[in-house]
Amino acid sequence: MSGNAKYIFVTGGVLSSLGKGLTSASIGALMENRGLKITLMKMDPYLNIDPGTMNPFQHGEVFVTEDGAETDLDLGHYERFTNVSLKRENSVTAGQVYETVIAKERRGEYLGGTVQVIPHITDEIKARIRKAAKGKDLAIVEIGGTVGDIESLPFLEAIRQFRIDVGPENVIFIHLTLVPFLGVSGELKTKPTQHSVQKLREIGIQPDFLMCRTDRILPPDIRAKIALFCSIKADNVITAKDVDNIYEVPLVFYEQGLDEKICKHLGLKKRSRGLSKWTKIVQTMTSPRNGEVRIGIVGKYVDLADSYKSVSEALNHGSIANNCRLSIEYIDSEKLESAGSGALLEGLSGILVPGGFGARGVEGKIRAIHYARKNKIPYFGICIGLQLAIIEYARDVCGLTKATSREVSKTGEFVIDLMEDQKKIQRIGGSMRLGSYECRLEPNSLVAKVYSKKKVFERHRHRYEVNNHYRQILSGAGLRFSGVNSELDLVEMIELPTHPWFVGCQFHPEFKSKPFDPHPLFVGFVKASMLHRDLVGETKPGDKKTKGKRSKVSASPSRLRPRSRERRPALH
Ligand code: GLN
Repeated sequence: MSGNAKYIFVTGGVLSSLGKGLTSASIGALMENRGLKITLMKMDPYLNIDPGTMNPFQHGEVFVTEDGAETDLDLGHYERFTNVSLKRENSVTAGQVYETVIAKERRGEYLGGTVQVIPHITDEIKARIRKAAKGKDLAIVEIGGTVGDIESLPFLEAIRQFRIDVGPENVIFIHLTLVPFLGVSGELKTKPTQHSVQKLREIGIQPDFLMCRTDRILPPDIRAKIALFCSIKADNVITAKDVDNIYEVPLVFYEQGLDEKICKHLGLKKRSRGLSKWTKIVQTMTSPRNGEVRIGIVGKYVDLADSYKSVSEALNHGSIANNCRLSIEYIDSEKLESAGSGALLEGLSGILVPGGFGARGVEGKIRAIHYARKNKIPYFGICIGLQLAIIEYARDVCGLTKATSREVSKTGEFVIDLMEDQKKIQRIGGSMRLGSYECRLEPNSLVAKVYSKKKVFERHRHRYEVNNHYRQILSGAGLRFSGVNSELDLVEMIELPTHPWFVGCQFHPEFKSKPFDPHPLFVGFVKASMLHRDLVGETKPGDKKTKGKRSKVSASPSRLRPRSRERRPALH
């Protein structure tokens, strides 16, 4: 079958943030579960070459693939929900497409011709889809943006042509819309869906399936109405109901027979293996045996939880592995810079400083790290979280009071610095150490035990490195460099042998964690946080673990407030 792949194109209507990424990932999970060799692709209509230079507030996290591409966070969902390992070619932006076409024009490849959106831009889009689908049974292609946007038009035109090119029997168009429930009239409204489908039809695309985002299961009469107005079989009007937990989404679709219907439509004969492993994950998350663990993420992009999507998901995976409920507290690092702000960290069982850029909020993160180190609270520092842990240690333990990073200051002792060859780089985009690098783990270190390995490969995205000039002073003062890249002679991991769990890594382990294959560092961190919780008795009153075992229950008002939990409705 591999020679001629089948294609599913996923578009979105009505408004953004309906969850096209999770829908595509969930369809991927269901189809892979049928033994199909799949791939997933994201097409973003913006003109940036990649999201690498975008502010996380605008676009959420930047997800990094094994081959070092900086991509849309939806690729993170794709990798977490399936076994696919995505590459640079799986993330396409309008910027890349235009850059290629314009470069060809300059080389004279269209000599004599007028270069136009149709056919030159659309041909380039189609060529990229075909390339990514090569050798696969099925390619699921998500088109970013909302139908009706000017920017996404070339992509929609390209997929319209694509269906004709490869034959309608090989293509499915799936459209995600919203069916809101109007409280005042007590009705589900179908008009936004009708309009959105009309908009698609205007450009020549007739969807085969509608995924309707709603807060309730759509009754048969509403499905029939949508089917009638949108020329779709009522059977193919699928409810994409809000759920508490993103890992329920494949189950919701499975219960409606979506994968079976897709297979029928595309003439695929593979059978489902059932979804018991997804059910188990959801069950563990809904009723965990080992109570709740409260972990603080200290960063500066905390107002948009999507900025730390892979980190929060990896923590979820670590919690599933430890059979406990995760409560994430997002703490704005700038708020930790004022006096008396330490209270914000009180009662946390673990503290994590995720990746970050720039000087803002850095001193607040350093305070959080100091607090974790001094109070022996499990600490996990990722990328800038490792760099700042080194600065904190240099200042407080080694007496290097001016220790800093070249990223945040023009003067001082640069314990974190640029490598010599990096200092010459002028451009910003794509100029970081990106993608997979080897890390050798020091025998008998905590991290070697946590990984149960001697050598690992992890994904990077950063410019600055630990300055080797200070390594001896730091290790002489008790900091252990437990992971190194020998080829480049760079520090990759640190730990503190005098602390129960104080680990920093220069790479981003969160990108490789999956619900069915949780990353060992996150499993180890959550486990250490649970131990800390049990030791100091900081569990929530009523948790199983608290009964008879607690030594201390803090009754400070913050303990009695409901916690902000990472349980946002899925598909958001
Ligand atoms: N800003 C730091 C650097 O560029 C850390 C990057 C990160 O945390 N991903 O090295």
